[in-house]
Amino acid sequence: MQVVRVPQEAAAWGAKARWQGLTIGFVPTMGALHEGHLSLVEEARRNCSAVVASIFVNPLQFTDPADLRNYPRQEGRDLTLLEGAGCDMVFLPTETGIYADHTRRTYDLGGLDQRLEGISRPGHFQGVVNVVERLFHFVRPDQVFFGEKDRQQLTVIQHIAKQLHWPEHIVPVPTVRAADGLALSSRNQRLNLEERAIAPVLYRALERVREAAFTMPVAEALEAGRAELAKAPAVRLDHLEIVDAELLLPLANWNGHDRAVALVAAWLGPVRLIDNITLHRSA
Ligand code: AMP
Repeated sequence: MQVVRVPQEAAAWGAKARWQGLTIGFVPTMGALHEGHLSLVEEARRNCSAVVASIFVNPLQFTDPADLRNYPRQEGRDLTLLEGAGCDMVFLPTETGIYADHTRRTYDLGGLDQRLEGISRPGHFQGVVNVVERLFHFVRPDQVFFGEKDRQQLTVIQHIAKQLHWPEHIVPVPTVRAADGLALSSRNQRLNLEERAIAPVLYRALERVREAAFTMPVAEALEAGRAELAKAPAVRLDHLEIVDAELLLPLANWNGHDRAVALVAAWLGPVRLIDNITLHRSA
């Protein structure tokens, strides 16, 4: 596995791979890798003949300086995991390298960045799209793998890729969970033992919503989820919403929808956790 820090060298690696007729699968990450990230690498392996991952903690997408400062960093361990997962090249840019000669852009995200996560983290999705554009510029992948864990991020990227006719094919990958249902996340490392034991309540709340979905009114399905969360007073709810799967706009009722998404964001101790599930109308 090749480790590349200079963007121009990453671009040259990609150009050579394409010249050799390889298709490049790309997995952008912020490191502190876990099984969720590795499932993206595995999916890239299945779909493409060369796999590139990147590790870059992107300052532009952090709205809270403490979150950026405390974000876990473990490069040596990450490289071992990526090598084991069959990654061919890891791109580890520096901030000055990736943003050299770059003018920060404000993208038209059709309002997608103004709701849900966008309310608590203004500017976050603009920061995500800026870095993704930079990473794509250098790596020039054929397919890019994003986790459904960050549903709004996935939707934002799908939206902008379509709007700007980006040639990269965006591939969603299902959320990997711990045995108790907690969605794997780098931020879980910052939970203490007590908080870690409480954290699966987010997923249980989503399951309560799923049980009520399409049979009970939307408001009652949300109430069932909130009641589950209320059992854990340490959890400070940010939002629990049921939205349509395309624009992520809140649903007033189930009419005309066979699919919807339930999303939750909540604070537990020093950590803000997010999760979501897709709701399907059963036939
Ligand atoms: P991050 O390092 O948090 O920026 O995540 C990098 C990529 O991994 C994003 O596309 C995430 O959605 C994805 N990801 C993070 N956690 C999971 C998970 N538990 N299951 C699947 N994908 C995940």
